[in-house]
This record gives sequence, C-alpha cells and structure tokens, in this order.
Amino acid sequence: MAIRFHNTLTRRVEEFVPGRPGEVRMYHCGPTVYSTPHIGNYRTFLLGDLLRRFLEWKGLRVLQVMNLTDVGHLLDDAEEGEDKLEAAAKKAKKTAWEIAEHYTQEFFEGLDYLGFKRAHHYPKATTHVAEMIAMIEVLEQKGLAYKVPSGNVYFEIAKFPAYGRLSGNTAEELEAGARIEVNPEKRDPRDFALWKIDAHHQMQWDSPWGRGFPGWHIECSAMSKKYLGESFDLHTGGEDNVFPHHECEIAQSEGASGKPFVRHWMHARHLLVDATKMSKRLGNVHTAQSLRAKGYSGEALRVALQKAHYREPLNFTLAGLDEAEKKVARYRDVAERLASAAAPGAATGTAAAAPSSAMATLLSDLRGRFEAALDDDLNVSVAFAVLDEAVGEANRRAPQGADAAAHLALLRELWSVFGLVEKSLESAALADAQVQALIDEREAARKRRDFKRADEIRVLLKERGIELLDGKDGVRFKRSSDRPGGDAKS
Ligand code: AMP
Ligand code: ZN
Repeated sequence: MAIRFHNTLTRRVEEFVPGRPGEVRMYHCGPTVYSTPHIGNYRTFLLGDLLRRFLEWKGLRVLQVMNLTDVGHLLDDAEEGEDKLEAAAKKAKKTAWEIAEHYTQEFFEGLDYLGFKRAHHYPKATTHVAEMIAMIEVLEQKGLAYKVPSGNVYFEIAKFPAYGRLSGNTAEELEAGARIEVNPEKRDPRDFALWKIDAHHQMQWDSPWGRGFPGWHIECSAMSKKYLGESFDLHTGGEDNVFPHHECEIAQSEGASGKPFVRHWMHARHLLVDATKMSKRLGNVHTAQSLRAKGYSGEALRVALQKAHYREPLNFTLAGLDEAEKKVARYRDVAERLASAAAPGAATGTAAAAPSSAMATLLSDLRGRFEAALDDDLNVSVAFAVLDEAVGEANRRAPQGADAAAHLALLRELWSVFGLVEKSLESAALADAQVQALIDEREAARKRRDFKRADEIRVLLKERGIELLDGKDGVRFKRSSDRPGGDAKS
C-alpha cells in the first residue's frame, strides 16, 4: 500500500515516494546540547524513530541522520545575542566544550532509556565547520552571500525568491518580524547570518572571513549534504523549526546546489505539560532522567509520547503516564502468556508449525488494518486501537501451540514499530538466565557443603517469587505466578 505523509511544503497529505526506489534518506534536527533534553524534545525525536521503524517494517532501507547542535544556536533562536552553549557555560563556570560533552551524554542516555534505534550518524556541528565554510564559499561565489565590515557573512534573502515557501510567511510578514532586531549591517532585515565574528565567543575557527563561528542554520545544510547528498527524501523537526530554521536551510542548500533540497518535510507539534508550556518557573519540566528516577519505564514514556498524532497537540500528564505504564504491563503480560502457551522454543515469536486458518485470517486482518493506519500519515490512534484489539483477541481466545506462537509473532511485529515490549521480553529471558546462574551457584555451594550460602540463595529466589523444586533429575524452578520452567542440571 502506498505511504502517505503530510508535507509541510505543500500543506497536504501526499504520497511519499523516495527518490531512489526501496531506500529512504532522512534527516532530523537534533538537540542543542546546552541543557538536558525535555520530554517535548523527545516527542519530536520519537517522530523520527517511528518513521525509521515504520519504513523499515515496510521493507525500505533507511539511512538516518540526526545532528547535534553544539555551537551557533543563539538564545531564543535569535539572529543576535548569546550562543546557548556559551550562556550555559558561563552559568555553570565550565567551558562550552564541557557543556556540549555533558549534555550530549545526557541526550544519549535519554535515547537508550526510551529505546531509540540509533541513527546511522550523529554529526556534531563543531566537527563539520570545514563543510560549512565550503558551502558559505559557494554561496558567496554565486552572489547569494555577502560579507560586511565586521566580518559577519549574511545570506541575501532578496536573491532567493522561494524564501517563505515552507512557512507560508509572506515577504511583508517576514520583514515585519525581522525588523524587531535592527542590524544596520544587513542589506535586508530578513537576511540571516552564515558566519559570525565575535571575539568573546569561546568556540572559534579560522575562515576566509576571519576567526569566528558558524550560524545555526548552515550546520544542518552542510551536514545533511555530507551524509545524505544534495537532495534527499525526508526532513523532520519540531513545529518551531519551520521558521526560520528550515526556511533558511532550504535557501542555503538550494541556493548552493541549484537542486531541490528535501522532498518531504514533517513537523511535530509541541508537547504541552498539564495543558501549559513546559517552564522551569512552573516546575513542569520533565526529562527522561527525572521520569526514570520516579520509577517510570522508558516504554511507558514512549506510549505516552506517541499516542497522539504528530500533528495534533499532545498534553502530557503524570496520570497519563500511569495509564501508559498499565498498558505496557498488559502488553508484557500477554507476551509472557503467549510465549508459555506456544510450543517450546517459540518464545521468540517465530512459529515453527503453521497456525490454524482461522488464526491466520485473524492475524492477517489485524496486520492489514495496522499497516493501513500508519500508511495514512502515521495514524497512531487507529494503529494503537488495532494493536489493543490484537491483545484483546489473545486474551479472549487464549490460543495454544502454533496459534499462540503466530499471535505472539504478530504482536511483536506491531509492538516493534512503536518500539515496545522488545526490552521486556529480553529482560524476562535475562531473568531466566540469572535464575539459572543462581541455581548453579547454589548447587556448587551444596557440593562444597556451604549450606549457609545455599540457603541464602534459596531465600533470595523465594523473595522474588521463585520456588525451587528439587527432583531426582535436577533442580527445576517455578515462578509463583506461572508455569514451571528452567530445567537445571544438578
Ligand atoms: P533544541 O534542543 O531546542 O534545538 O530542540 C530540539 C528539538 O525539539 C527541535 O526540533 C524542536 O523543534 C523540538 N522541540 C522543542 N520544544 C518542544 C516541545 N515543547 N515539544 C515538542 N518538540 C519540541
Ligand atoms: Zn536543523
């Protein structure tokens, strides 16, 4: 079935056709690493992760790039003022480099907690300054950029008539907006900086225009070109990125290459918390770290952040996260039940025997409706409803043997598109292995007549709901809530 996504450029839901058959090249604006990313940032990043998982599930090869902005992004996305990294460094009495390093780590911690698939590249702005300088030189040669006496280099909007097409801002509106910051050096108030000279800036590079640092917008144009080429399929960001950031990226990239930059632009609406904007003053800023410290699972947070359509507002509440946690627990529960009802060895969800034809029909219908929902501009509400229906059917029918294995295989497939239940099944398997290791240790202790240690292990396992069954042919264990399992050698 054809995939249809909304395209900010055309303001329509239209068929998504990659430039090269079977392959998708996509770029996501990543974090500015000057503070701990909040869950709103992760809502936007999860749009990228969902696209990756969905497109791969559809059988497409995906090349995914997300940049790390570690220089040049000024406070309030402004044209003039202080660099976010430098401001944070001053406050923390650290260098901008230390700040970047620290918050990059925190960003990756958040990705792991939330179970993101790692992108293929996470280019840092500070290690791609040469590529940015090269692109600014091309723009200068083409007469699209000009240097002013201070050494700053600006992009000349008047030379790029398509400016404003993405955001729909008319030339007058853009001019009115830009006039707030009067800068007599610019030929037009709408012109934006490509290269900046500022003696007080910590991060500096030599360039044909003097020692300075790049503007924020040129970073994404230069880094996307390096990893994805001059034209690629998909570019995402949060709604605030449409203007000016993405408008400027288009002007730079198309200005330099003379080719269409991105076929499809997708933007995520902002996340609200308790129906208001997240702000430190209101104390409603949640981060991956703060929610993990409260004991929430990354999977529950994924559900809470992915349950609304990316173009719809999403209001985050802790009560909603509690609900999501319950949903994830129901998912894990049904996964475990299906795994034990399936034939031995089918816990991975790969059915050895064929399911009954009634089961095959049911699963194919569910799969088809799930796919159709996501094909329709990522209609996650319908997709989650189909997923929950599949879980409900598993509970109602309690399939056995090959039917259970096939049902679990389908659920795992659908969950994996949302990045769910992957880790929990792994951790159930890990728990089995840990139990086994403890049983082996207990047996070894008994052999060396260390009954104290042997007893300690029995108590420890008991506390975790695991009962040991000593038998003629070894020790078996039983979880208080479920099936006997794990044959142990004695
Ligand atoms: P930043 O680290 O500020 O560069 O932002 C990283 C990404 O998060 C950008 O794509 C922003 O558009 C996006 N973003 C910022 N605030 C929110 C929010 N409240 N909800 C969703 N996305 C956001
Ligand atoms: Zn960007």
